[in-house]
Amino acid sequence: MEPMPADGTYRSLSFWMDTVPGSLSPGDPLPGDLAVDVAIAGAGLTGLWTAYYLANAEPGLRIAVCEAEIAGFGASGRNGGWCSALFPASLAKLARQAGKDAAVAMYRAMQATVDEVGRVVAAEGIDCHWAKGGTVQLARSATQLDRARAEVAEAREFGFGEDDVRLLSGDEARELAAATSVLGGTYTPHCAAVHPARLVRGLAQVVRGRGVQVFEQTAVTELGPRALRTQNGTVRAEYVIRATEGFTPALPGMHRAVVPVYSLMIATEPLAGPVWEQIGLAGRPTFGDGRHLIIYGQRTADGRLAFGGRGAPYHLGSAVRPSYDRVPAVFGALQQTLGELLPAVADAKVTHRWGGPLGISRDWCASAGLDRASGLGWAGGYVGDGLSTTNLAGRTLSDLILDTGSDLTRLPWVNHRSRQWEAEPLRWLGINAGLRAMSWADRAEGRTGRPSRVASVMGRFVGG
Ligand SMILES: Cc1cc2nc3c(=O)[nH]c(=O)nc-3n(C[C@H](O)[C@H](O)[C@H](O)COP(=O)(O)OP(=O)(O)OC[C@H]3O[C@@H](n4cnc5c(N)ncnc54)[C@H](O)[C@@H]3O)c2cc1C
Repeated sequence: MEPMPADGTYRSLSFWMDTVPGSLSPGDPLPGDLAVDVAIAGAGLTGLWTAYYLANAEPGLRIAVCEAEIAGFGASGRNGGWCSALFPASLAKLARQAGKDAAVAMYRAMQATVDEVGRVVAAEGIDCHWAKGGTVQLARSATQLDRARAEVAEAREFGFGEDDVRLLSGDEARELAAATSVLGGTYTPHCAAVHPARLVRGLAQVVRGRGVQVFEQTAVTELGPRALRTQNGTVRAEYVIRATEGFTPALPGMHRAVVPVYSLMIATEPLAGPVWEQIGLAGRPTFGDGRHLIIYGQRTADGRLAFGGRGAPYHLGSAVRPSYDRVPAVFGALQQTLGELLPAVADAKVTHRWGGPLGISRDWCASAGLDRASGLGWAGGYVGDGLSTTNLAGRTLSDLILDTGSDLTRLPWVNHRSRQWEAEPLRWLGINAGLRAMSWADRAEGRTGRPSRVASVMGRFVGG
């Protein structure tokens, strides 16, 4: 990673980091060699939830988290704030891999995870602006409406009812989010809007209070059985957990495990009351539409629109650099899309622009696992659905380490191994071609009103 200055520059990482209370000055780095029970690389939500559940289950356990920058530096402090029940692999795909019951159990576990995050933030007093207003996915063309119907039909096949996801008429959808060209959509109650930096920074404070040692500005240079090496010393531990998501390819031997794909966001100035009366989003449901190259938005607690999407290029060799967080053309496209979607916002000032890498495994299936023989564990590959999934990962890794034999450890993503990504330059060619195909397909669908076959083929490379 390119070094990041150790001062207020961390504020510029996102609107969320800019507005999170408290200092962003890094905490102490690892002072030298150390022996603990569990060592974790990465203080994003994966690492911190794992530490949280372990420390709760066994208060005497010695846990150390080594973070290259500061807690919440990665995607956890920069995302769209959808704490949702979404999972990157579809029900049908999970059913093919592990059977129908396992697929349903995975999706039910995700729904329960949303409430578990809500329970913990309330219990621990983490003020992350939690609002469980669900998600409205707008259908703004006939093809998007067909996809919405297919999504609901698939949910019904697997036994998910109206309380889980339902089809909306045009009027019902517009009532929730008064966007242009709305023909219908879907609504699920299983999502909360949050201020993600308040969540991750608050969680870091809670785990520190439980005795977990969080060392900042301590980059891990190598993860191995029973040891995690850093530039400051070695942490020896019975269990070593990789929680580095989009940054993983920089670790030795890991360069083809996941790819970092960038998602970028903008936030407007606070919008006036009459503008909100036009738009809706009362109760702060998160929102998007049915296009291939996904977009996502939330009404923030202080009345802004935070809005994001993919489309930034993938960089050769899975490189991750601060300069890749900002792509003016993508910011421009996001602002234009937001204005088309919600014309009442078209002239609003954009106060923040940012981005970050998320992690995608080759088969688009997130996983959490532990190799008991080596003591090495991991979780990641969440694509754009990690905010809540990291909590399920943390509980699962805790149960695997403590060998509780819980139901969580039998979910189909546990110990799932995705194959490696292709070697370069094939990876670069495939991913960027996929991104371009998705954006091309969205434009073509807008023109012809017919579904694009290109997108469904290429989308499996980088869609989602
Ligand atoms: C712009 C954007 C929008 C998103 N929107 C949503 C959303 O609305 N909902 C949703 O569910 N998901 C969303 N996601 C995805 C979600 O944010 C991530 O899946 C989730 O935060 C991953 O958490 P993590 O802890 O695994 O990884 P990260 O938060 O990326 O944390 C990894 C940490 O590891 C540290 N690290 C890396 N390498 C090293 C090393 N060698 N040594 C020590 N530390 C290291 C990093 O500095 C970082 O702090 C979004 C992502 C982005 C980028």
